Amino acid sequence: MNERPPSVDTLARVVAVDSTLPFALVVRCARLAVASSGNYEAVARDLVRGIERSLVQPVVNATGVLLHTNLGRAPLGAEFFGFEGVARATSLEFDLSEGSRGSRQTAVATLVAELTGAEDAVIVNNNAAAVLLVLAALAAGRDVAVSRGESVEIGGGFRIPEVLEQSGARLVDVGTTNKTRASDFERAIAKRGNDIAVILRVHPSNFHIEGFTQQPGLDEISNLGVSVVSDIGSGLLDARCPWIEGPPPQWLHGEPAARQVLADGASIVTFSGDKLMGGPQCGIIAGRADLVAKCRAHPLMRALRPGGQTLIALQRILLAFAAKTACTDIPFWLMATSSLDSLRLRAENVLGSVAPSLGAHILETVALPGAGSTPGATIPSVAIAVNGDHTARLRALSVPVIARRDGNTTLLDMRSVATADDSLIVDSLNSLATT
Ligand SMILES: *Cc1c(COP(=O)(O)O)cnc(C)c1O
Repeated sequence: MNERPPSVDTLARVVAVDSTLPFALVVRCARLAVASSGNYEAVARDLVRGIERSLVQPVVNATGVLLHTNLGRAPLGAEFFGFEGVARATSLEFDLSEGSRGSRQTAVATLVAELTGAEDAVIVNNNAAAVLLVLAALAAGRDVAVSRGESVEIGGGFRIPEVLEQSGARLVDVGTTNKTRASDFERAIAKRGNDIAVILRVHPSNFHIEGFTQQPGLDEISNLGVSVVSDIGSGLLDARCPWIEGPPPQWLHGEPAARQVLADGASIVTFSGDKLMGGPQCGIIAGRADLVAKCRAHPLMRALRPGGQTLIALQRILLAFAAKTACTDIPFWLMATSSLDSLRLRAENVLGSVAPSLGAHILETVALPGAGSTPGATIPSVAIAVNGDHTARLRALSVPVIARRDGNTTLLDMRSVATADDSLIVDSLNSLATT
């Protein structure tokens, strides 16, 4: 191709007309395009589009995976992260009674204690950080006993043996991959005397082994003279779900919960804020006051502490659990506990506004809690189905809609979509019908 490259400025001006990017970034793309081998305008537009698409932006999660790891886990609106009105300072580290310096974590620690029965709690950036801090504060230079069946990789590079190594503690493998008994821990402790600082339990969140398997109960290993730290991962606060009317839902069956794990003898429990709590990304360390105090006093604490906005959001989430309004006020819990009838009604209303030529129809499906919580558990759901694979076109919309493909059918699951976004689902389906 002999096309002569345009000037960077000319090309940038042409391309900038259709872009919301700052002009300096469009110029950057134009400069790269001019250096390419032809199709300068198309190349520049692709580069500009690439940057626009790489910006973190709101999307409609129609995958049916409620806590989608690629889509930011628990959905939370801006209202969770700040206060309405003027941009004001906050009392983040200020004691309003004394008029002196306060702790940014006092209120959330009180709320976690109330909701889980823990004596005290401390918050860090995520659960991986929580496990790292607990091991560094309680076991550096000493041994940590872990069942071979729980020496797992959670995903995103979180591998128990490697986290242990980073904390400065030494891993002691106990039992076998499929069977570990309390007597295995007893023998390991007897052999190593005072060297074993803690027993670490890890909930295998993202898989389960079936068949000839066994792990000892917490009650059996919490009286061996060594503190038990339990990483439950998903962060169900209380297995009785006092914030839900009626019995706990079926999909939570068997999920470990902070209150019960502490009551059964764990000294410390760690979990994520953005999995089953439905809150912001953070990690929570809760349990015995003296052990929590050691975590708080460890030098890593300053590096792992969460920001003010995270604590404001977490505070809102914990207040909603305490007020038993989680199922209306926390988006994840609202989605997870919506009745099948209400989802069906929403799907019918959507279909009523969509061009019949599209052939969209309603299917019963199953949604997933997601984020590696409750492995294997499903929540009955309703999806709008359209023949053909339209996932790429739905992703290209100005508010991208992330759908699921099943064979040659595109499914938009209503359970992971906020009711307020139903009109966007209508628009997205109609955009498929018009071309
Ligand atoms: C998810 C999970 C983690 C990691 O938590 P993050 O908050 O993502 O850092 C650690 N342990 C278990 C058991 C988990 O399920």
